Amino acid sequence: MTAARSLIGLDREALKAALVAEGVGQREAQMRARQLWNWIYVHGAQAFEDMTNLAKPFRLFMGERFALIRPEIMAEQISSDGTRKWLLRAAPGVEFETVFIPEAGRGTLCVSSQVGCTLNCRFCHTGTQKLVRNLSPGEIAGQVMVARDALRDWPSTSKNRRVTNVVMMGMGEPLYNFDNVKAALAIVSDGDGLALSKRRITLSTAGVVPMIPRAGAEIGSALAISLHAARDSLRDVLVPLNRKYPLVELMGAARAYPGLSNSRRITFEYAMLKDVNDSVADARELVRLVRGIPSKINLIPFNPWPDAPYECSSWEQIEKFAEIVNRAGYASPVRTPRGRDIMAACGQLRSESVKPRASARLAEIRPAQPASMPG
Ligand code: SAH
Repeated sequence: MTAARSLIGLDREALKAALVAEGVGQREAQMRARQLWNWIYVHGAQAFEDMTNLAKPFRLFMGERFALIRPEIMAEQISSDGTRKWLLRAAPGVEFETVFIPEAGRGTLCVSSQVGCTLNCRFCHTGTQKLVRNLSPGEIAGQVMVARDALRDWPSTSKNRRVTNVVMMGMGEPLYNFDNVKAALAIVSDGDGLALSKRRITLSTAGVVPMIPRAGAEIGSALAISLHAARDSLRDVLVPLNRKYPLVELMGAARAYPGLSNSRRITFEYAMLKDVNDSVADARELVRLVRGIPSKINLIPFNPWPDAPYECSSWEQIEKFAEIVNRAGYASPVRTPRGRDIMAACGQLRSESVKPRASARLAEIRPAQPASMPG
């Protein structure tokens, strides 16, 4: 274990300040910070000695004081459809998942914001894992870096890059870890950083209404809202957060999201649950609810997990539902399930990490169970 401080996840100012704190002069620190930033985020350097245009003594100096720590890959699974899932470890007992979904002409990385989740959505596997902790900016942006390492996808500015889009749709609720997600996405969208434009980044929320305007103003990515029901009585059950922030408030926040237009639409996610939310009447109610909001409705065939209390709607029913939404003037793509065979599809992510009980922490005992893949 090294006590050296990791630079990954610091913003540009903090990176410079870290150098100054170690005795580097202000002007030199400014320049060095710029060079380091470029090495770390554009070229994916994993060690200071690889930064070949920096003077050797400076590389040694950096290596003695700082580190470049990424989450560690504990396991990789590859689906028959090419989807890859990595189990990553941030620290002992702190494990989470990241998924890469290759498609024709693009590659989407599904990034986690928390280990576990507090929301308990009834149909979501992650919701069966209690929150262990928030991920830090370095651990969030680090997921993009680990994916680029594994896919040999550096430099970040390359024309043929494989990771072209990021969705904050992994484990956790990003708007309950706002500051860290914001800091991470600033690095992800930095043109001289991980270089994915904000239009290629989508933040998904179950509906933390008070944070939605801040997400719009301070993060500025595309927004997805996990809707799943068009009336409060049902949404209260499926997404318990709805009891705190009911649909009228959620739709108000959606409508006010900055920069909405036909080319910048909100995505409403709607998991198709057999005989629960998939009737023709449900589709009509949904159309009424989103009326006037530039939006598309992403229909997600429910992805099963062990002991899940729901089933996926039939294909006929999904098509019927999609057609009603579509006829009302809203795009209603059905999301092709990806990576189901490795439990990598929407809502299937989970790790075995548990928060150590206070008594165990006091006794300095490590959590009893090492984390492993779900299944
Ligand atoms: N907490 C955020 C980020 C998670 S995104 C949010 O709720 O938006 C994961 C998406 O997959 C959400 O839309 C979630 O509702 C959906 N989902 C969860 N479980 C699912 C399942 N079993 N099948 C299909 N979609 C699911």
